Amino acid sequence: MKLALFGGTFDPVHRGHLAVAHAAAQQFELATIFFVPANVPPHKGNRPLTSFPHRYAMLALATAEDQRFVPSLLEADSTEPNYSIQTVRRLKASLKKSDELYFLIGIDAFLEISTWRQPAQLLNECDFIVASRPGYSLADVGEALPETLRPAPAVLQALRKQEASGTIALPSTTIHLLSGVNESVSSTQIRVAAAKSVRQLSRHVPEAVAGYIKKERLYSSTSAQPKNERAKNSKVLSFRRAHIRSHKEQE
Ligand code: ATP
Repeated sequence: MKLALFGGTFDPVHRGHLAVAHAAAQQFELATIFFVPANVPPHKGNRPLTSFPHRYAMLALATAEDQRFVPSLLEADSTEPNYSIQTVRRLKASLKKSDELYFLIGIDAFLEISTWRQPAQLLNECDFIVASRPGYSLADVGEALPETLRPAPAVLQALRKQEASGTIALPSTTIHLLSGVNESVSSTQIRVAAAKSVRQLSRHVPEAVAGYIKKERLYSSTSAQPKNERAKNSKVLSFRRAHIRSHKEQE
């Protein structure tokens, strides 16, 4: 069986992620794509993430209607940063010998792969499907490879005019470039848009996810603070007010 691991923060999952997954499933005849939300992503800087349960819930809603799409709890319990090399090895340990695993990734993320933990070993673990976008060349993909796999400068120069499509066969891995997915949306844009207005959200996320964001008031300007904390604080405030009032009444 052919399967893929699709990792990310998915904060929130959006139509770009789903378009990539659909195209990869069609083109590579994937039986299953595991959407693996990172609990503690090592690459996302200091921005506070929406809690794992919310990001997972949105993934579950977004993937509910496609049997091939499976939200995964592989990284749910970790308190340490989730490195892809470990996640891939954990997933592989649960698969059958005859299964063929692909690592599905967008080209923006792939261009950073040399900064990841043990990138050459990661590339060695399975073949990659890289969702390409117009404007990227084969040289961009080649330059992104860890040094031991990187083509010589003369080869890179020759690849500069060739668009990032087709297949790159390396001694330790094969990189399949997936073309034709042009959903220019990012989770960052959605978070910014949602903080202003939740009305147009379903243009970028499935209807059920838009409903969930509204219901849970995610990405609103006050949502940096967890909801139960806000509730606790508002109770504290009203207790305090009541306390002051009762003092005043006694004076
Ligand atoms: P953020 O804006 O918060 O950085 P994001 O939209 O890039 O988030 P991630 O969860 O970080 O989403 O991405 C998971 C994977 O999906 C990555 O491999 C990324 O390259 C890919 N991806 C994200 N958006 C798109 C898109 N519009 N088209 C193709 N691939 C995408």
